[in-house]
Amino acid sequence: MSDCGCDKAQANIYELLRGELCSEESAPIREHLDSCPNCRDEETVCISLTDVVRRACEEERENCAPADLRDAILRGLNA
Ligand SMILES: [Zn+2]
Repeated sequence: MSDCGCDKAQANIYELLRGELCSEESAPIREHLDSCPNCRDEETVCISLTDVVRRACEEERENCAPADLRDAILRGLNA
């Protein structure tokens, strides 16, 4: 399992999912994901996590800043 590229693939999954890799960088990683169930699992986990974080951020934006956080920021500005 040492030279299958898992380390490289998993180290770059987040960048890949965020679209931060150029096609030259992402092609071999996508290729590896296609052929490696382990890394596909890892990709699935990363996708779920990314999704959860994004939803949490969207909910926070919808609620605006929580009141106590806003107060803390205002106190910080006035200090
Ligand atoms: Zn792998």
